[in-house]
Amino acid sequence: MRQYIPDTILAQGTCHDPDSTGAVIPPIHLATTFLRPPEGYSATGWSYSRYGYPGLEQPEATLKALEGAADCRLFSSGMSAMTAVMLALKPGAHCIFPIDMYHGMRTWLKRYAAHWGMRIEHVDMTDLDVVRAAVVPGTTAIVWAETPSNPHWYLYDLAALADIAHAAGARLVVDNTVATPLLTQPLAFGADIVVHSATKYLNGHSDVLAGAAMTAATNEFWERVCFNRDYHGGILGQFPAALLMRGMRTLHLRIERASESAMAIATACLDHPQVETVYYPGLPSHPGHALALRQMAGGFGGMVSIVVKGGLEAAERVMTRTRIWKPATSLGGVESLIERRAAIEGADSHVEPGLLRLSVGVEAVSDLIDDLKTALG
Ligand code: PLP
Repeated sequence: MRQYIPDTILAQGTCHDPDSTGAVIPPIHLATTFLRPPEGYSATGWSYSRYGYPGLEQPEATLKALEGAADCRLFSSGMSAMTAVMLALKPGAHCIFPIDMYHGMRTWLKRYAAHWGMRIEHVDMTDLDVVRAAVVPGTTAIVWAETPSNPHWYLYDLAALADIAHAAGARLVVDNTVATPLLTQPLAFGADIVVHSATKYLNGHSDVLAGAAMTAATNEFWERVCFNRDYHGGILGQFPAALLMRGMRTLHLRIERASESAMAIATACLDHPQVETVYYPGLPSHPGHALALRQMAGGFGGMVSIVVKGGLEAAERVMTRTRIWKPATSLGGVESLIERRAAIEGADSHVEPGLLRLSVGVEAVSDLIDDLKTALG
């Protein structure tokens, strides 16, 4: 599959059932258990669906090809994939995370990982000297980057972070949910593990909760990640796997449209009198723009944040006035969403009270801009 360009891999999706029916879409096998000989495992390799089932291989192979990974596992959610990676670490592990990142993972780190004896440090990952100073050679187990990062869409320099992590004997893990493998391929920059909330762009229709983990090399660490999925019961179910495969087949079209529209919306917001700041890596004014030009190819993604003049109340007012932009959390779907991020993140949020996070969908961009401008007033 690697010889085709991503658009072809996705559209074809390795989807057909040549052996039994010739159907162009594979069947959904609901079986949880499979016939096996008395001596143990059957030649098909299937035994019990908590370990895998026919129907999971296609989306896993597609993602593996897109990221250029050695192996891929799909999980029941992004959090399930990410925590499976964290729980593959040894107790007491020292880990470096960014300050600007998905708040759900930050909550897990605070409440669970710390309780588990892990030593978690959040740093300004845009400053490589800060990362270098935080890493303890021989002790730090992972450096974790999410790029572009929630909700300021900062860029973290993956090639430099991989060098820093590896020099210290640590692994680089990258949450590639927002960029998707179509815009950034972290393994090509030296990352060891890539994780996704497949709930977002990969599925793209806000109707599946799913996660993915991929590795640059199969090794003992990866085996522990796989073990965690199998024995914590975090595997993606059969119906969501089929929906995910269906959604992924148009990823290239959706991400291209969302990126183009996001650029136009960010530009339109730049000189709006009610907007204080626009965060979008495609804008030359964004602090990560130069790095985005090097690290992202084919667009800057579909996520934009704006800080509204007048703070919290003004931002809430905008949310009640939009008609097309729906007030809801999450991102990466075909429908455009708006949310006041600090309200979702809670008391310890570092996000400006007036920041609105925009997930740009595939509606007509002129309608999206008009709706937002009308709501801004
Ligand atoms: N990573 C990022 C960047 C996210 O935005 C999210 C969810 O919002 C997650 C991870 C967690 O994924 P899930 O909700 O599928 O568990």
